[in-house]
Amino acid sequence: MFLGTSASMPTARRAPAAILLRRGGERLLFDCAEGTQRQLQRSAVGLPEIEEIFLTHLHADHVLGLPGMLKTFALRGREEPGLTVYGPRGLRDLFGHLKPFLGRLPYRLTTVELAPGEALERGEYRIEAFAVDHGVSAVGYALVEEDRPGRFDVGAADALGVPPGPERGMLQAGEAVTLADGRVVTPDAVLGPARPGRKLVITGDTAPAPSVIQAAYRGDLLVHEATFGDDDKERARETLHATATEAAQVAKLAEVKLLALTHFSPRYSGGELVREARAIFPETVAPRDFDTIEVPFPERGAPQLVKRGGAAPERTAYDPGAMSRMIQVATAGDVTEAEELQELLRNAGIDAELQPVDNEDGLNVMVPEGELEAAQDAIEALSEPDDLIAEP
Ligand SMILES: [Zn+2]
Ligand SMILES: [Zn+2]
Repeated sequence: MFLGTSASMPTARRAPAAILLRRGGERLLFDCAEGTQRQLQRSAVGLPEIEEIFLTHLHADHVLGLPGMLKTFALRGREEPGLTVYGPRGLRDLFGHLKPFLGRLPYRLTTVELAPGEALERGEYRIEAFAVDHGVSAVGYALVEEDRPGRFDVGAADALGVPPGPERGMLQAGEAVTLADGRVVTPDAVLGPARPGRKLVITGDTAPAPSVIQAAYRGDLLVHEATFGDDDKERARETLHATATEAAQVAKLAEVKLLALTHFSPRYSGGELVREARAIFPETVAPRDFDTIEVPFPERGAPQLVKRGGAAPERTAYDPGAMSRMIQVATAGDVTEAEELQELLRNAGIDAELQPVDNEDGLNVMVPEGELEAAQDAIEALSEPDDLIAEP
């Protein structure tokens, strides 16, 4: 669940970096930017007693939400469970500085520094920290599931005379069994081929890097930062961030199933970045805050963006003001692009106005606040094939 998809600062539409990963009953938080606890409260999940937080690096737009969230857990009177924060080298120093904010916490707080190449073994899966290229101490994270046993072939078990009961359970668990007549049946005789687990990769901030391609190789989902568009490639180089095109090149080389772009500079609406990326790697999405991506087991299909999949049920209070207040839906680089967007919105029944941007060539495309969602959909529909999107 994407809780924050903006780079460097919050905007009216996007909060800064945070992703909640839900696997079974587990809730793992990746990065915790300013306002993350409030984003969770506003989501369908609420603010759970998170037990593990993984920081990609210690820039403010990825960690400022920590002190407030840790204090909220304390104010709730939490004693159990304890909470572990993982992060790159420098994490312990950071918590030294945070001490005056945090005071005494009633629960156990543990910090674990992870170097690239280190992994946390979890039985069914592991979480690997991998190297990224952001100019500071930083890691990306890959959640890699172990292969699952193959399907149990009832017909084969019947044919071999394996009686229903504990023997079949043992075979399913990978153990050989000896039948009453002395014959030994091995698991491979009744189990299909092992089924691959899932791999989900979160880069945090990074310039395009071979280590990311390696970590993401044949992954189901790659969440890659795309701070800039092609027009700002030089700034991406200077600041060690990626453009949408570069993220797409990484995804293509890594042969992932789906690329999700995030960490957008506030000057972009997201739609233009996803268009640039899709020219290289068509299976790209640009989630908004509260969108989710479902990652099924490979035999059940490809990962899918679910728009507002993590949003709390909408309130329907009538707000007459919202129908007339104008709000920015996109920024166009020049008049031609602006008028194209205006035309597109007019075709969708939305009256858009153009407004010059201070000190720049671009134009803001403004729409009535009450039609913002419809306008965003119309703009994104320009390039989003339906098969990548499912409604919740
Ligand atoms: Zn950042
Ligand atoms: Zn950063």
